[in-house]
Amino acid sequence: MQNKEVLTPWLSPIFEKLLKTYQQGRLAHALLFTGNEGLGKFKLASQCAAYLLCSNKQYIGACGHCHACQLFSVGNHLDFHILKSENKKAIGIDEVRAVINMLNERPHLGDNKVVLIKDTSLLSKAAANALLKTLEEPQGNSYIILLADTHHQLMPTLLSRVLHQQIHTPDDQQLLHWLDEQNVQVSDLGVLRQFQNCPLSLLTYLQALQALQSGLLSDERRDCVEGLFNMLGNPSSLFDFSAFISKEPSMRLQLLFFILHELQKLKLNSKGCYEDAIYAFARPQFDIWCTHISASSLRYLCRKLLKTRSLLREQKALKSELLISSLLIEIKNEFKGNRAC
Ligand SMILES: [Zn+2]
Repeated sequence: MQNKEVLTPWLSPIFEKLLKTYQQGRLAHALLFTGNEGLGKFKLASQCAAYLLCSNKQYIGACGHCHACQLFSVGNHLDFHILKSENKKAIGIDEVRAVINMLNERPHLGDNKVVLIKDTSLLSKAAANALLKTLEEPQGNSYIILLADTHHQLMPTLLSRVLHQQIHTPDDQQLLHWLDEQNVQVSDLGVLRQFQNCPLSLLTYLQALQALQSGLLSDERRDCVEGLFNMLGNPSSLFDFSAFISKEPSMRLQLLFFILHELQKLKLNSKGCYEDAIYAFARPQFDIWCTHISASSLRYLCRKLLKTRSLLREQKALKSELLISSLLIEIKNEFKGNRAC
């Protein structure tokens, strides 16, 4: 049952703290959870909502059995409403008014009503102002839970009326322990950096990797290093590498960016701490590459890559392979031009 799910180790202390605050009668009526995507903000918010709506609240959370809990778990509780954006479009004032009206009604069941706003950063200005009025005069039994990647996305006036709880990315140790509990293997710390320690993305990636150990899906980082290696040694490989990147341009250009970035770091400090770098496994190759390119060329290529990426975002599929090929030609030329040094 959804509301009896065990929370991850970086969420459960937050949930326990909020529960305690509620039990002491001090929980704010508007909560804001911020943190990167993939940390479980929605899961945490759902657990809080389930608890607020449960008619047989336990010391450690919702009971999971009462009528309210059962309705909640199948997404059918009349005192619970989720407001989210469709296709990243702005959330308008009418949608906000509709949920505010719901909050002004008496609860159908139990004591509380809860509104969860999933994409707070996408509230239109008018919608945010309408919401602000409700936050200024909170109803005794209504709760609003807002989710956003960062609090900078919110109007300061809105921010000043909510209890802000930031969800931090788990550290390596916590993450490795949790991934181990999920029965996924981590080959090296670089993969953690590749996903910026984001647990849910890492889990999905590592599970897919593990499920397809037959070789159907390989480590994307190794494919990128190999692609670059082939391209620098053999001109005809440029098109293969370009086709490879074009299939997943966002992720693979990011990986290519990390290669250039790590080469830059190596240039600055060849003896630096490197075990947990994304490409630690490719260190011998990187040492060789470092001797073939200057720091200023690497800086130039990083800028060029970021520019290509933003152009790709604007232009969608149009000419994307052409843009990627021209970036790769520049990379090839910069390495070649520096070969003498
Ligand atoms: Zn219950």
